[in-house]
Amino acid sequence: MSIQPESAVILVADDDAFIRHMLTRYLEHEGYQVIEAANGEAALKLYFDHLPDLVLLDALMPGVDGFEVCQRLQTMTQGNLAPILMITGLEDEKSVDQAFAIGVVDYVTKPIHWAVLRQRVRRLIHQHRLERQLREANYQLQQLTVIDSLTQVANRRRFDEYLLQEWDRALRGHLPLSLIIGDLDHFKPYNDHYGHQAGDRCLQAVAQALDHCSSRASDLVARYGGEEFAVILPNTAMAGAMQVGDRLVKAIQALALPHAASPTAPIVTLSCGGATVMPRADLLPANLILTADQALYQAKGRGRNQVRGTAVVLPTPEPWFSAKP
Ligand code: GH3
Ligand code: MG
Ligand code: MG
Repeated sequence: MSIQPESAVILVADDDAFIRHMLTRYLEHEGYQVIEAANGEAALKLYFDHLPDLVLLDALMPGVDGFEVCQRLQTMTQGNLAPILMITGLEDEKSVDQAFAIGVVDYVTKPIHWAVLRQRVRRLIHQHRLERQLREANYQLQQLTVIDSLTQVANRRRFDEYLLQEWDRALRGHLPLSLIIGDLDHFKPYNDHYGHQAGDRCLQAVAQALDHCSSRASDLVARYGGEEFAVILPNTAMAGAMQVGDRLVKAIQALALPHAASPTAPIVTLSCGGATVMPRADLLPANLILTADQALYQAKGRGRNQVRGTAVVLPTPEPWFSAKP
C-alpha cells in the first residue's frame, strides 16, 4: 500500500491525556499529522475545522461519548465522513456491535497493540482515499452525460430532465415557470463565411456569455440544438423572464463578434422567444416550449436581435371535460 502518511491528518479524541499523548507521538512518528481532542464536543468541532482523513475515537468519554460523536458526525455529514476507528477498553460483544451499528468502520482495544493499530490506520486511510477518488471519478462521469462537450453548458438531455423537474415543482407549489429560447441570427451565413471551426468558437463564446446572464442558482442555461440555447427560469413571471431575455440579447451584442455576412447587423446577434406558464395538470412542458418557439419566430420576423414574449394560453375545458355523467 502506498500512502503518503505525511499528507494524512488524523483526529485523536480521548479524554485520557496519557493515552492521547502516546497515540499522538506514535502516529506523528509514523508520519501523520495529528489533531488532539480531549472530549467529544472538541472532537466534533475539530472534525469540521480540519476534515481529517481518519478519526481515532475513544468510546468512553465523559459528556459526549464516542458513540454519540459518531452518531452526530453521521447525521451532520449525511454519512459522508472519514472512517472512524474506535478505541475501546470494552471487549464485550454488545459495545462492539453497537459501534459497528452506528457506522464505526473498525475498532482497536486498550491496551493498544501498536502493530495492529498501525496496520488498521494505514488500511483505513488508503481505503478512504480510494473511495474518495472513485466518488470524484463517478461525479466527473456523470457530469459528462449532462454537459454539452462543445460549449460546456448543460446539454439537451439535462434541459429535458430539468424542465420536467421544475414543471412538477411549479405545479405542486402553484408557481410560475418561464422559458427562453435563443437562436443566433443568420448563423448559416456565419459558417459559410468564416468556416465551421470559427462557427464552433462563436458558439462557445455565446454560451459562456449567456451562462453569465442568469442570476439565480435555480436558472439553467442549456444548448438546446445546433445554434439554439434555452434558459429555464423557475419561479419567474413574465416580466422577470423578459428582463432576462433582454439581458441575453444585449450580452451577445456586447461581445461584438464581427459578422460580415449578416444581412441585419455587422455583428453576431441573438433572437429570443420567452414564454411563461402557471403549470396545470392538463398542460405539458411541450406547451411551454411551443409557445417560446412561437415568440422566437415573432422576434425573427420583427427584425431579429430582440426578445419577444408570450404567456401560455390556457385551453378552455371542453363542456364534456368537466361534466360528469
Ligand atoms: P436565422 O437568423 O433565421 O436563425 O438564420 P440561421 O442562418 O441562423 O438559421 P438556420 O437554422 O437556417 O441555420 C442554422 C445554422 O447553424 C446551420 C449551421 O450552419 C449552424 N450550426 C448548427 N449547429 C452548429 C454547430 O454545432 N457548429 C457550427 N459551427 N455551426 C452550427
Ligand atoms: Mg436555428
Ligand atoms: Mg439561427
